[in-house]
Amino acid sequence: MQITKHKVASIHYTLTDNDGKILDSSSGREPLTYIQGIGNLIPGMEEGLEGKSKGEKLSLKISPEKGYGVKDEALTQRVPRTAFGGQEVKVGMQFQTNQGGVVTVTHVGLSEITVDANHPLAGVELNFAVEIMDIRPATEDEIAHGHVHGPGGHHH
Ligand code: ZN
Repeated sequence: MQITKHKVASIHYTLTDNDGKILDSSSGREPLTYIQGIGNLIPGMEEGLEGKSKGEKLSLKISPEKGYGVKDEALTQRVPRTAFGGQEVKVGMQFQTNQGGVVTVTHVGLSEITVDANHPLAGVELNFAVEIMDIRPATEDEIAHGHVHGPGGHHH
């Protein structure tokens, strides 16, 4: 069986940036399970995994355009320190916005704090080492819900 649209694939992966720094990995955890072809993963991952078989190991280099997008400077803004109440704010901290998004602190000034609403991996070239652990057809329910059920997926 190969990874094609509406197949559930289980993969182990390690994500590094171009300096070799590990940004994320499924090592030591359950494999990631997802449904191919419906946007569960970033486009570059789905393209790289399409047609591959169980047991294959791949190295995928993914551009920001096919990853988490390019950085949009317009999504950076300065907010007054008072907006954070009395808490200590440091570069790299993440906050939920009232609109449900997530911003990352990129600069802490005396009176103003700069936050960035870009995805933390926007503008980053992604290097994935992937091993395909298992492939099975998605059930009708899974396709209707748009996510995997059972081990590694939703339980409901
Ligand atoms: Zn469901």
